[in-house]
Amino acid sequence: MNIFNMTALQIGQKIKNKEISCVEVINYFFNNITNKSNGYITFTKEYAFNKAKEIQKKIDNKENLSILAGVPISIKDNICTKGIKTTCASKMLKDYIPSYNATAFKRLEDAGAILVGKINMDEFAMGDTGTTSFFGGCKNPWDSTKSTGGSSSGCASSLAYNEAILTFGSDTGGSIRQPSAFCSVTGIKPTYGIVSRYGLIAFAPEFDQIGPMTKDALDCAKTLEIISGYDENDNTTIKNKNFKFIDENFNIKGLKIGVCKNFIEYSDKEIQIEILKSIDILKNMGAIIEEFNLDVIEYSMPTYQILSSAQSISNMARYDGIKYGYKPENIDCLEELCVKSRTDAFGVEVKKRIMFGNFILKNKDVENSYYKNAINAKNYIIKQFIDAFNKYDILLAPTTPKTATSFDDTTETDIFLTSANLTGIPSISIPCGFTKNNMPVGMQLIGNYLKDDLILNTAIQFQKSTDFHLKRPNIM
Ligand code: GLN
Repeated sequence: MNIFNMTALQIGQKIKNKEISCVEVINYFFNNITNKSNGYITFTKEYAFNKAKEIQKKIDNKENLSILAGVPISIKDNICTKGIKTTCASKMLKDYIPSYNATAFKRLEDAGAILVGKINMDEFAMGDTGTTSFFGGCKNPWDSTKSTGGSSSGCASSLAYNEAILTFGSDTGGSIRQPSAFCSVTGIKPTYGIVSRYGLIAFAPEFDQIGPMTKDALDCAKTLEIISGYDENDNTTIKNKNFKFIDENFNIKGLKIGVCKNFIEYSDKEIQIEILKSIDILKNMGAIIEEFNLDVIEYSMPTYQILSSAQSISNMARYDGIKYGYKPENIDCLEELCVKSRTDAFGVEVKKRIMFGNFILKNKDVENSYYKNAINAKNYIIKQFIDAFNKYDILLAPTTPKTATSFDDTTETDIFLTSANLTGIPSISIPCGFTKNNMPVGMQLIGNYLKDDLILNTAIQFQKSTDFHLKRPNIM
């Protein structure tokens, strides 16, 4: 039984049915993992075997456990795991061991899921290629000369390499969805506030959200149910909500889908072709399709860059050689300690963000011309979405304007994605086709605020009628 060919829910069911034990699953995982993807920074073998024995005992005692009991999970390395290294793929935190668990991870652990490793990423989640990691870039099995996308690069690449079952990433400006599209996996950025950010090492807290990256939308929906909900440690989580994302009786018939025509026109020809084919599939399933222009493309990247960089600087200020992480040697004074630790231990991309963020907030004049304009642009973007959702149940667009790009390509491939972070609304990327060169194409479904269930159920139904998400790359 090759567990890497199964979804999380399938493995969970087999464990429940006693067709396989938790220890056998974990054994299989560690006997077969080679980290070809470079998707992992840390493996948690000892922890995983201890947990497997503990969970199996509970199962044997007929304790009521979730469907994830015994399922191996791999978590992006900016999500804190108590007693287990959490590096943010940075030299700054390469030896950092948190003293507490992120809420999302704690909920998975309580549900019986078993952590098998911490996942590689762009340093501090800043980047879109997976190459800014201190631990080296991840590989894209569809074409090793192309990027995996980022910043949740290792989640996408380990899934695509068949080296993970269920992963969790974070998305501040597309970091779950863009690598999902580049590597042909399913990933959702939930509505802001559905998942606790407690223990997620902050990049831009107004936009950061944890979300699952998986083999299919059903795994996404089920695991999101487990990690979502109010958390007293994060007062931006939504109160009194018992989130349910799966509706067995959901029918696409009559669903009004607004297709973002200008997003499609902005994309490469081969992306256009695959997206149009998927729209036809949805039409045949009974969706009502209407095209419109969502006027956000021009504004969303600069707005995101200004607001996220401005927020990032206070989060990065804590890394000063005193409180956390890397400490240089032979230091004479406090200032030298601070300067040298940051100079030595941050990569180029992180330094760029810190410089840009500080520039934005440098003085009132600069702040007025950049930050205030960005806030106005954000409000304009919100208005565009409010208008769109007055007409449509969900919106549809390509996830990215290009398939996985080469490493020297500077296209902003998250240009269609940051607006969901700026507005707090949910967005999922699902596989929807392949180019002539066998490169995956992703389709983005965007929901209104708290309508995560609508995009998830649409994705689940779409995947019942298609097999794009089942196709795997040829790995030598
Ligand atoms: N690529 C974007 C950036 O570098 C998004 C990052 C993210 O979502 N964490 O800022």
